[in-house]
Parts: sequence; structure tokens; C-alpha cells
Amino acid sequence: MNKSQDKEIRTRIAPSPTGDLHIGTVRTALFSYLFAKQNDGKFIVRIEDTDKERSKKEFEKDILEGFKWLGLKEDEMYRQSERTDVYKKYIKQLLDSENAYISKEESKANPPAGGAGKEIEVVRLKNPGKKVEFEDMIRGKIEFDTTELGDFVIARSIDDPLYHLAVVVDDHEMSISHIIRGEDHISNTPRQILIQEALGINRPKYAHIPLILAPDRSKMSKRRNATSITEYRQKGYISRALVNYMALLGWNPGTDRELFTLEKLIEEFKLENIQKGGAAFDIEKLNWFNREYIKRMSEDEVFENVKENLPTSIINMSEYSDAILRKIIPIISERMNVFGDIKQMSDDGELDYYFKNPEYNAKDLLWKQDTDLKTSSEHLKKIASLLEGINENDFIQDSVKEVVWGYAEEKGKGSVLWPMRYALSGRDKSPDPFALAEVLGKDETIYRLNNAINKIG
Ligand code: GLU
Repeated sequence: MNKSQDKEIRTRIAPSPTGDLHIGTVRTALFSYLFAKQNDGKFIVRIEDTDKERSKKEFEKDILEGFKWLGLKEDEMYRQSERTDVYKKYIKQLLDSENAYISKEESKANPPAGGAGKEIEVVRLKNPGKKVEFEDMIRGKIEFDTTELGDFVIARSIDDPLYHLAVVVDDHEMSISHIIRGEDHISNTPRQILIQEALGINRPKYAHIPLILAPDRSKMSKRRNATSITEYRQKGYISRALVNYMALLGWNPGTDRELFTLEKLIEEFKLENIQKGGAAFDIEKLNWFNREYIKRMSEDEVFENVKENLPTSIINMSEYSDAILRKIIPIISERMNVFGDIKQMSDDGELDYYFKNPEYNAKDLLWKQDTDLKTSSEHLKKIASLLEGINENDFIQDSVKEVVWGYAEEKGKGSVLWPMRYALSGRDKSPDPFALAEVLGKDETIYRLNNAINKIG
């Protein structure tokens, strides 16, 4: 897109480092990033840390690392705490032009018990009390009567600006052309426009995007939903899947296409197509995206990720080998949304038996409709002899099934296949015995069948 005649498109994300990187912030950042990049513009990250008490370096670190992990690379980065002199200049300008004044008042914060608050001098904007109108790129015309806002405070002192002043100054100094932010900021916009007008600076374009809602369309709450990106990262979500899913939270391409790389999103994204209503966060849908991204990974990449998530207790097992792990990946993959699920599978005992002889009681080998373990033992002996006939190189599930199936049909599938599967896994629930046999290989399979026969005695 050639926008060379126009002013450069510059967007920003302006997180306050008062908590971990929130998914809502990520989506705002993503939309801002996409819009800037598709117009050959710049995407700016501005840490809004003027609230000294609530801002923490650890949150700033979490936020910046989160953007990096998601691939939302900024072109410029600023920190409001390092820009006090800039704000001071503008506060002075407002005082000199009599658009603002210093007001002596009693501090409402922490008054001593029974006493009055200490005296402070704040800076207030002289509010002309008028109708402010602005054109929102998503919601259209928005009107607001500012009279009821009174002369609002814009700084605690000349060295200590508050949010509205700092935002207006920075958006101007950083030549932000489009302010894309959550619709919870709509009510802030009239105040910010009044400050712009008092300073005689240009108004950027506004696009207020709908909020992300919980699945039941209530407000997202930390308590009930994972709202921090770090949590998703720790659970093992793939960053590209998360970006893809977030892009479709409130925006749609107007086609059935769902899978988008970041590059493709830059091409296809349209700010005007953002919906006005809130978008409900759907973890199932996110899981679907994650599975799709796993499917598209190379075998080696999947292997590396699976191994990384495998508890060391499994890797230390006597029969652990990368070769067996590779063989069980298709089985694991069917049951996995994110690589982090592997830990749970392991905790649930779903992985051990691939890497060590299972422990179980002989009575568990008995199919529920059988009464005598001798029957189970006979079946196991027969299966072992049938499997002996398969060439080691042909020992795959189809050939195992082929030799056992006829016998199982003749004697009763449960009666034959239950003890076979139990002998191999030692568990009530596991993949079918043919898949297990292929993973374990001929020798180990026959070894385990014989173990079961010996257990019955
Ligand atoms: N710092 C504000 C926040 O964290 C955002 C300001 C803005 O986008 O204008 O909500």
C-alpha cells in the first residue's frame, strides 16, 4: 500500500505496568501493530508508569517479554517515568496561557486519623464546558457534554502529571496518527480532546475496540479466566496460535478462512471490519487453533516440544528411548491441546507404561464377562504364539491386528483383547492393543504377554 502522500501511520500500545500482560492489551497491541504494518507505518510501545506506587518493574518485564514472544516487535519504545521534563513544558504552557491553574486543596489521600488531609497544590484544566464530538473509526460519531466534568485535575504538581495529560502530550510528541484502544477508554477521550484543544495540538484518529468478554459474556475476571499471557505461555500454547486466535476475537476477514500467519494478517486485517459488540473468549476455539498449529509443525519440531515437556522422571526410566517417544507422539497428539498437557498425562500415569514394565494384579487381566483367569491365560498364550509368526520388521499395528483378529472374533473380542491390552499397559484405559504392540515392538510385546501368563501362574 502506498501512503507516501499521507502522514506516516503511527500507532501505539500504552500499557500501565501494574499487572501482568493482559490478553486484552495483547489484542489491542495486535490490532495496532497490524494497522501500522499494513500501512508501512510504525508501532510504538509506551510504558505508562506515572503511577509510582502501582507500577512495578517486574510487570514491565512481563509485558515486554510477552510482546516479544508473540512477535509484536516495536519500532520505538518509551517510558513515561523518563519524560517528566517533557510533561513539565506542556503543563507550564497550559498555566502560562491560562488554560490551567494551580489550585490549593486538601489532599484526600490518607488523611491522618481524625484530622484533615495535608495541603497540596494540584493543576486543574479550565474546562470550557462544551459539547465535544469525535468520529470513532469503529463506533462512528460520539458526542459528549464535558460540563459535568468540571475543572479536572491534570497533574498533582508541575513535576507530577496525571494520566490524561501524559497521554495527550505523548501521543502528540510521538506523532501518533491513530489511537486504537479498548472501549473502556471512550469516556476518557473527551477530557483528552479538551487538553489537546487547550494546547492547540492536532487530534489523532480514534478507534475504540470492543472488550474481550468471558465465555458467558460477563466481564473477564482474573479469578475465573486465565487473563495473563504468561499463563498461556506457561501452559504451553504456541505463540502463533495465540496471535491467530486473538486476531479473530472481534475481527473477521469476511471469508471462511481461519488460519493466518502474522504476515497474512498484516495483509488482510481491516480496522473498519472490527465488530462493535464484545467478543467472547472461547478456550475451546483457542485449543483448536493450537492443535492446528501443532499439526502443521514438522515431526522434529513436535518431537522437541514433546520431549521438553516430558517430566524427567520419565526420561530417567530404564526403558526410555527417543525412538519409543517418537512412536507414541501420534497417540499423544490425539489427546493433546497444548504441549503442556503432557505433564498432566504423565501425572495421570498415561505415559509410564511405554517406558517400563507395568505393575498390576493378575486378577485385573480378567475380562468382566469371564470367570476364570485360565481362559485369559490361554488367550494370552495363543496371542503370543500368533505374534511370534510376524517378522520383526513387519510388526506394525495392522499386521498385529490381522493375525489376532480372527482368533478374537472366534473366542470373543473382550475375552481376548482385554487381557492382551492389560498385559501391555497395566491400565483400565489405554490405546488399543494393536497400537500398543507397534510402539513396544515385537520382543517387548511378547515379553509382557509372557509376564502376564506367569502372573496368572
Ligand atoms: N495506560 C492506559 C491503560 O493501561 C492506556 C492508555 C491509552 O491507551 O490511551 O489502560
